[in-house]
Amino acid sequence: MTAQKIDGIELSKKLRADVTQRTLALKAKGITPGLAVVLVGENPASQVYVRNKVKACQDSGLHSLLEQYPQTLTEAALLGRIEELNHDSRIHGILVQLPLPAHINSQKVIEAISPAKDVDGFHISSAGALMTGMPGFWPCTPYGCMKMLESIGFELKGKHAVVIGRSNIVGKPMAMMLLQKNATVTICHSHSQNLKGLTQQADLIVAAVGVRNVLTADMVKPGAVVLDVGMNRNEQGKLCGDVDFEGVEKVASFISPVPGGVGPMTITMLLVNTLEAAECAAT
Ligand code: NAP
Repeated sequence: MTAQKIDGIELSKKLRADVTQRTLALKAKGITPGLAVVLVGENPASQVYVRNKVKACQDSGLHSLLEQYPQTLTEAALLGRIEELNHDSRIHGILVQLPLPAHINSQKVIEAISPAKDVDGFHISSAGALMTGMPGFWPCTPYGCMKMLESIGFELKGKHAVVIGRSNIVGKPMAMMLLQKNATVTICHSHSQNLKGLTQQADLIVAAVGVRNVLTADMVKPGAVVLDVGMNRNEQGKLCGDVDFEGVEKVASFISPVPGGVGPMTITMLLVNTLEAAECAAT
């Protein structure tokens, strides 16, 4: 068996076309969805991420505001700026690029964002809403994974999903989303014993670890679906995921590649969340 690739670029194109259409409809009512992207410091990877987010907004017709501050920005100044953005009617979504410099308390900053503008879905009230099945913004990366599963018509009800990784931004919300769709969910982490024994039982495996080849072909049940969230570099410096793609694609039924899988979906879901924040504000 050779797995079918779940193409995050193609799916993103479709979803972004819908965002563009809905943005035009809002603009006709005099509202342009707006995203504020706040970057503190000169982390090169963060600079690339924020540029990509701003460009994606522009490509879909959303308004974006990129605010870059020096590494020395105080926590109080950042909190003050967020408060202003919370009250800025042109801004529907606020994203503070992480990581922040060590002298700034990231959680405090995330909690300062109005939940109505929390398009990253990291605010504790967004996490609580997801946990309790209430409406709220879903974190973009696991939300993108859910869209990928929907795109292949994968029915989650009653299936066994194994999520490797338990971070607040990927692993835990991923598990909650899968649970909400009636999957039986196992969450694995660095202390899990017999990872292979657990993944071998899975109909769906989501790898969100940040370790190359954490999932190899012998760990995958034939026909399972595999989503690779990881972003790592191989010896040649090329981007790769957590999954041994060449091996696992011979066993799985569907697999998302890196690059071109979950990565583009993350930015796409940020656009969707920002658009929906603007649609909510318009009603
Ligand atoms: P993170 O906060 O470092 O969490 C990694 C998780 O993996 C932790 O829960 C850790 O367990 C677990 N882990 C580490 N080694 C393990 C092992 N050998 N076996 C099983 N579990 C293990 O990372 P993250 O923010 O969730 O991101 C995970 C990966 O996804 C990274 O490569 C990141 O770059 C990538 N990512 C990609 C996107 C995208 O858009 N494509 C977005 C976000 C993140 P403990 O909790 O016990 O430490």
